[in-house]
Amino acid sequence: MIISRQKEFNNILQMLGEIDIFIIGCGKCAKKQRAGGEPEVLEMKKKLEDAGKNITGWTVLSSACSITSWADVLSQNPGINKADALLVMSCGGGVSVISGFAGKQVYPALDTESLGGVCCNEVVTEQCGMCGDCTIWLYGGICPVIRCAKSLLNGPCGGAVQGKCEVDERLCAWDKIFERLKELGKLENIENIHEPKDHLKTRVKKA
Ligand code: SF4
Ligand code: SF4
Repeated sequence: MIISRQKEFNNILQMLGEIDIFIIGCGKCAKKQRAGGEPEVLEMKKKLEDAGKNITGWTVLSSACSITSWADVLSQNPGINKADALLVMSCGGGVSVISGFAGKQVYPALDTESLGGVCCNEVVTEQCGMCGDCTIWLYGGICPVIRCAKSLLNGPCGGAVQGKCEVDERLCAWDKIFERLKELGKLENIENIHEPKDHLKTRVKKA
């Protein structure tokens, strides 16, 4: 699941230069996180109308990043052609896919943060930083790239106080990694020095 959160409404308003707006939500990750499902789309509609925008329509696609036919989306949502811009309440993947078809300005309502998941109905954030070179098994299944504030691959920075990271509010990822490796009987993984990531494999590809 892609983890994203809604932008501040004032920031959304500042982005939207156009008056006639169509809103598109996403029925997968954004819905699950209550950031872009139907209730959030309707709330956004009301706030935008209160701010003087004309909402030409709205929809929640089953998955904003996976569209079988843009022609079908258009035929089911005539308000799209009446709009000068689309506001998409999905991760950047959905915004990008829709931008490729829409032929008009598309704005993101959410900020995309990380790759996470859902376990027992609870959304878990920051599980993967999408580095393109997965070595999570070396760390007992706890990814330091995303869960350590400094993305340290070879042990903690030493700044944690009572298990709390010195950078932000998170618990020190390396405390967790140590405990998990101990449970698994794999503490020798910490003794080995791990090579830096191969940045040729990074997810950010230059055109
Ligand atoms: S090592 Fe890279 S690919 Fe694997 S979980 Fe961490 S960020 Fe994701
Ligand atoms: S305190 Fe822990 S999580 Fe925070 S930067 Fe240092 S090693 Fe990483």
